[in-house]
Amino acid sequence: MDGGPQARRALVIGAGLSGSAVAHSLASRGWSVMVLDQAEGVGAGASGLPAGLAAPHVSPDDNVLSRITRAGVQATLQRAQALLQSGTDWALTGVLEHNLAGKRRLPTGNAVPEEAQDNTNECSTQASEEQVAAAGLPPGTPALWHARAGWIRPRQLVAAQLQTPGVQVLWGRKANAIERRGELWVVTDAQGQTLGQAPLMVVASAFDSLALLRPLPGFAVPLNPLRGQISFGHMHGLTDAQRRLLPPFPVNGHGSFISNVPTPNGQPGWYIGSTFERNCEQAPVREEDHAANQLRLATLLPNLGAAMQHQFGPEHIHGWAGLRCTLPNRLPAVGPIDSERLPGLWLCAGMGARGISLAVLCGELTAAWLCKEPLPLEPALAKHLTAERYIGKAKPP
Ligand SMILES: Cc1cc2nc3c(=O)[nH]c(=O)nc-3n(C[C@H](O)[C@H](O)[C@H](O)COP(=O)(O)OP(=O)(O)OC[C@H]3O[C@@H](n4cnc5c(N)ncnc54)[C@H](O)[C@@H]3O)c2cc1C
Repeated sequence: MDGGPQARRALVIGAGLSGSAVAHSLASRGWSVMVLDQAEGVGAGASGLPAGLAAPHVSPDDNVLSRITRAGVQATLQRAQALLQSGTDWALTGVLEHNLAGKRRLPTGNAVPEEAQDNTNECSTQASEEQVAAAGLPPGTPALWHARAGWIRPRQLVAAQLQTPGVQVLWGRKANAIERRGELWVVTDAQGQTLGQAPLMVVASAFDSLALLRPLPGFAVPLNPLRGQISFGHMHGLTDAQRRLLPPFPVNGHGSFISNVPTPNGQPGWYIGSTFERNCEQAPVREEDHAANQLRLATLLPNLGAAMQHQFGPEHIHGWAGLRCTLPNRLPAVGPIDSERLPGLWLCAGMGARGISLAVLCGELTAAWLCKEPLPLEPALAKHLTAERYIGKAKPP
């Protein structure tokens, strides 16, 4: 891809967090981008999640996943600040991580990230006694405080990114096959009608990318489905006593609890999730998953869990379920699939349970590679995200 003015046309398949982030990053650089989605509107896939967290992963050696999620969360929060309404669509609240069984440890010694040495307020730290108390946890409960973290409503972010000038979205277009004709990648529907064509195609249709790409020679990215369900209810259904127990910020560490965030019908709600179910390619809402989420809340925030038992009854509880698309090392696959055999065919998928934290960064990485700009994260980290890692190519585009 030479990135010259004639070539600056892209076709993106999938209008979730991944596809909309790619579209936004390219269109912001002057590209003309057409996005196709099989659904009739925003949020048909996992990005229809009513509310989720942007929060970093931490590890004692500040490993690759920790460094990538930190860069990703930073990119997402900046994008949210630029495009979304604070308090309604997202909020930089900070997130308390209940460190159950002490499994999360902050980096120490040489592994302490540079930014933590300069300004600890911006980084993950041990939670203070006040923060632990505000979460309603007993004194001495092990917990971390992620200052650069908060909640986001992914649909709002998707919709805002798709509104970028230069992005055109065609809803209700299911890609059935893709093929290369001359210099162009062409996508067709089930009747063989052309839906779109461009010199660059970015497949961002999560687990469904597999059906489109598997027929291509040598395709080797092992995308998997991982179903998940959240349970939620409305704030107006809570008693005063229950409200008094709500933490003023999201809490994660064994699933996550968020409150005072608009639900899909616009009324403020509370959320607990989510379940993890492998080998399932459908995402119906299930009663037994509400019970699993109730247990999750009881472990994460025991006092609140006990007080909210009755909120899980069928007259109060609502659910939303979706399919995450995962890869074995929990890092997405971005960029050319096989630049020699399939030039101009790129992927942005495999966000797993962290699409809110990673998709914006992956969109920026895609655009930086295409436009030959400095990368939005260290090249040594970016190479862990390349889709071509699955064909044994270590060198990024
Ligand atoms: C229960 C649950 C809780 C979660 N919580 C969090 C969280 O707290 N924090 C976090 O960071 N992440 C969370 N995630 C993960 C996050 O939601 C996903 O990683 C992210 O939404 C994936 O975005 P995507 O664009 O890759 O995929 P999707 O949002 O699934 O988008 C794929 C799009 O492709 C379209 N499509 C599919 N096939 C075709 C085709 N053939 N032709 C045309 N269009 C097609 C679909 O209609 C869809 O719109 C959660 C996920 C779930 C399920």
